[in-house]
Amino acid sequence: MKNSRTSEQASLEGIRQLLSHLHGEVTALEETYTQVLGVLQKLEGAANHDDLTGLLRRRPFFKLWEALLSECQRLGESCGLLMVDIDFFKKINDTHGHPTGDEVIKRVAQLLKSFESDRVLVSRYGGEEFAVAIRGTDAEILGTAEMIRRNAEKLHGPVIEEGGKPSDVVQWRCTLSIGMASSAREGYETARLMKSADEALYAAKQSGRNQVKAA
Ligand code: GH3
Ligand code: MG
Ligand code: MG
Repeated sequence: MKNSRTSEQASLEGIRQLLSHLHGEVTALEETYTQVLGVLQKLEGAANHDDLTGLLRRRPFFKLWEALLSECQRLGESCGLLMVDIDFFKKINDTHGHPTGDEVIKRVAQLLKSFESDRVLVSRYGGEEFAVAIRGTDAEILGTAEMIRRNAEKLHGPVIEEGGKPSDVVQWRCTLSIGMASSAREGYETARLMKSADEALYAAKQSGRNQVKAA
């Protein structure tokens, strides 16, 4: 009798040890899993966001845009696209150098980011061009575009000299041209909206830049 109890106790102790060991293994696995997930999330973030500005890149932006567009269509709401382009940007690079050009792009990106909300989504479309998706009426979309344009006129900063030193005397400034297209005017098809916004941007450039034009 005593012997069998001792062997039972020994078995229980064995099971306890095994469980405790398993618990340790599971905890270690959980930690590894969390670490792997963290690395994956970082990689995904880097893949979706532009290095210079931290804004969404073109592809992930258009994924979100497509979702927004179908939701608006389903709900009978309207939305639109802004194509935003820095005026005479090549001249900024040529006159003040590439680092200053980079700084201008970053500051314009910051300005656009300050307009982000649950109804406004911003991306770096490429180079010195940005795409903005806005959920709202034409008046709201154009109002936002005009506010962006006006705020860009106020942007300035020291030119970055060779060696990375900010100039004490020379300041950069910039202006934006903006083309707008909306579902209210053009319907709910991305290709058409992009083409129209691009044409409106071209018209803004042709009419003297630093302005907003609607398709
Ligand atoms: P427009 O008013 O008609 O838009 O003229 P623009 O000079 O702004 O346009 P253009 O397309 O002729 O030149 C854009 C320049 O932007 C050319 C390219 O070298 C420069 N660029 C593109 N990406 C970057 C970047 O990340 N950093 C810097 N510094 N320059 C860039
Ligand atoms: Mg430009
Ligand atoms: Mg351009």
